[in-house]
Amino acid sequence: MIHYDVVVIGGGPAGLAASKTLMDKNKKVMLVERENRLGGILKQCIHDGFGLIQFKKMLTGPEYAERYIDLIREGDIDIKLLSFVTKVKKLDKGFEITIVNKEGINTYDTKAIILANGCRERTSRQISIQGTRPAGIFTAGTAQYFVNLLGVLPTKRCVILGSGDIGLIMARRLTLEGAEVEGVYEAKSTPSGLTRNIIQCLEDYDIPLHLSSTVTKVFGEERVTGVEVSNVDDKMQPIKGTQRMVPCDALILSVGLIPENEIAESLGVEMDGNTKGPVVNNSLMTSVKGVYSCGNALHVNDLVDYVSESGVTAALGAVNYLEGEEESKKQEYIKVNYENKDFMYVVPQLFDKSKPENNIFYLRSRNSVKNVKLKVLVEGKEVFSKAYAELKPPEMKRLQVNFKDIHLKNIEIKMESAEI
Ligand SMILES: Cc1cc2nc3c(=O)[nH]c(=O)nc-3n(C[C@H](O)[C@H](O)[C@H](O)COP(=O)(O)OP(=O)(O)OC[C@H]3O[C@@H](n4cnc5c(N)ncnc54)[C@H](O)[C@@H]3O)c2cc1C
Repeated sequence: MIHYDVVVIGGGPAGLAASKTLMDKNKKVMLVERENRLGGILKQCIHDGFGLIQFKKMLTGPEYAERYIDLIREGDIDIKLLSFVTKVKKLDKGFEITIVNKEGINTYDTKAIILANGCRERTSRQISIQGTRPAGIFTAGTAQYFVNLLGVLPTKRCVILGSGDIGLIMARRLTLEGAEVEGVYEAKSTPSGLTRNIIQCLEDYDIPLHLSSTVTKVFGEERVTGVEVSNVDDKMQPIKGTQRMVPCDALILSVGLIPENEIAESLGVEMDGNTKGPVVNNSLMTSVKGVYSCGNALHVNDLVDYVSESGVTAALGAVNYLEGEEESKKQEYIKVNYENKDFMYVVPQLFDKSKPENNIFYLRSRNSVKNVKLKVLVEGKEVFSKAYAELKPPEMKRLQVNFKDIHLKNIEIKMESAEI
């Protein structure tokens, strides 16, 4: 049996960055990817907007992925494509990992694991839409796969439900390909996607965005023939008398992403109800020693640059673990405190006191707020603060904080109003 230092699960940008870092540190690595090519979701994101932070360039998704793929192909990494991780078992020392591929069902030993297996889209079943179940209901990611990878247009006239970024990008993409996008309907009173996507994908193409509105019924037997849309109240309940029928041949859903966490859960990793991903410390190690999480498997990111950054952090954490640092020292974790009314989440949730330098917090505000300051406090004393003219839930923020020479007892992240 081959023994690995680290098995990286998932060959998207998080797994690629983690693998590259481990390769540079001369670790024996296996990278497992269930699809036939590396790159993860980037393979189908042919629009630009990737890599502004990492490479100071507007790259397309495949171009961004290719930069990492070229680098790791030069190294000595065992890359297993068309290979699905079905089981991970904790051993006394390390883990046994089961992979299914054309070679059969095989198990491998590894000392550490990096979960970089991305996220999945919410489907129509998860948002309880009434009506028949005709063909023509797609998630936005599936529609993107049809258009960008298969070269097939899945609709001539569609309605998009949800204003998540993938839906917005698909509204533009389908319009450019000659389909009619009747409108984007969003149950909340504010959009879920990035402002730049509202402008560049909807406003620039005159595609209407209907806020506080939802799809209440789907019509059609074999294929969608139309949907019923209604306005909703502040509890997101349809308002009687506001419903109208929109003829269309497809309903495209962009109603949220959820981290893939079956493997983490099967290992008994503690999960965070806010992110729906694992609880991690500042090295991105989960509650199971030797298991790390990064990218969209940890929390859903809007920028790929931060996904790659988290892959590097997880890999460096795994390197320290392999070199005995994590084992030898007595770990003292502090909980990172924040108010749920102000923040949707903060990652990492725990802080290892022995790693005070250059720590990165990723967070999202609960509501859209103007003129605020984010403060990091240790025992009530401010050690970092940053002012923002506006914070919005769709736009993740990143704080880089150095706690060097600070006696760490507790950490709190706070939001306060500020004059800007
Ligand atoms: C439509 C869309 C548009 C976007 N636009 C932008 C943009 O303009 N700019 C920007 O910066 N970011 C953008 N993003 C965000 C960014 O691309 C993603 O956040 C990022 O690609 C996620 O990377 P990841 O490696 O965590 O996950 P993924 O890319 O999803 O990779 C996870 C990989 O794990 C594999 N996998 C899962 N389970 C298993 C298993 N059990 N065994 C083996 N393999 C497995 C999957 O096949 C997949 O390849 C966009 C995202 C989407 C979806």
